[in-house]
Amino acid sequence: MLSEHISPRVRDIPPSGIRAFFELSAGNNDIISLGVGEPDFATPEHVRAACIGALNRGETRYTPNAGLPELREEIAVYLHNSFNLYYEPADEVIVTVGSSEALDLALRAFIASGDEVIIPSPSYIAYSPMAHLNGGVIVEVEAAAEQGFKLTAEALQKVITPRSKLLMVNFPNNPTGAVMTYEDWLPIADIAKAHNLIVISDEIYAELTYNGKHTSIASLPGMKERTIVISGFSKAFAMTGWRVGYACGNRELLAAMLKIHQYTAMCAPVLGQIAAIESLRNGLPDKDVMKECFDQRRGLLIAGLRSIGLPCHEPHGAFYAFPSIAHTGLNSERFALQLLHEAGVAAVPGHVFGAGGEGYIRVSYAASIQKLTEALERMEGFMKVKM
Ligand code: PMP
Repeated sequence: MLSEHISPRVRDIPPSGIRAFFELSAGNNDIISLGVGEPDFATPEHVRAACIGALNRGETRYTPNAGLPELREEIAVYLHNSFNLYYEPADEVIVTVGSSEALDLALRAFIASGDEVIIPSPSYIAYSPMAHLNGGVIVEVEAAAEQGFKLTAEALQKVITPRSKLLMVNFPNNPTGAVMTYEDWLPIADIAKAHNLIVISDEIYAELTYNGKHTSIASLPGMKERTIVISGFSKAFAMTGWRVGYACGNRELLAAMLKIHQYTAMCAPVLGQIAAIESLRNGLPDKDVMKECFDQRRGLLIAGLRSIGLPCHEPHGAFYAFPSIAHTGLNSERFALQLLHEAGVAAVPGHVFGAGGEGYIRVSYAASIQKLTEALERMEGFMKVKM
């Protein structure tokens, strides 16, 4: 049997729980999907026009492995102005195929077989499979509702061992919407330094921070050298399909990631990179307009969920609400399936984000006010029957 040739590591990992769930609703137009984590906006017109211009000029070749120098320059300026992070464009920034590739590069570059990778639970669905594929041993650290879905020093300290090597963090968080302040990060940074951890900080939702400003753990004293900041254009700039992300950090660590990138992706798509330059040079106001829309929807959705009897922590970032469904007596899979079949609303069962996600569902508000209103009406009817 040829299937026996499939690598055990690949065989071990399940297909994406989100995708599997959405196949159930595919092709049914009556279903309102609040499932997938993708802005409902098209990329702004001037960004598309910049790409069309480049295409018409025949700019269709490979770029330097680390990305177009102009883009690396713009990324460095942007991170400095927005988040107080300073990186040298020449060797502290790599442009990647979405932030997804940057995450994979970091895990591949640093994990030696048996190294422990600490991953908060709940967390973004791809971290554990990516860490497993790269030979890491996954250690979950609780980021529970009682602690506002934040990472705490107490919880982190409990899971540290001599094999701990990497800590993955993602704030603003998918799926909970939690954010971390400078004060929240201080004790985490101390632990990372004390135990010589590399921190992989996925800051793809940094721009979508609604109350106050995003703080990167890399901006804390002594943290730049041991943190790989990963981000990209998919979410705040509405550019999911262009596949452009980046990694920034310590030049020695980045050089290791760049080696893998050179042999695998070679470079991120040139047209995506050209569009990303336009987004950073002239598209910052567009991003602010989209953020304002997300914020309005956030208010509507959170108030709506609470009023129909679904307690919900206030998400301060990203575009997800993570209401508790435990009091219905259903587990998250059954709740989400019944909501889909009986009310025609697709949300993601929390367990797909790790053990810490059981008892919750993830509801995306990257959908129009009209859709959210209709979904809330349907959910209200559903909850009346269940409770
Ligand atoms: N990190 C998080 C937390 C995400 O939610 C996503 C997309 N769902 C990604 C990374 C990947 O984004 P991309 O590869 O499009 O940059």
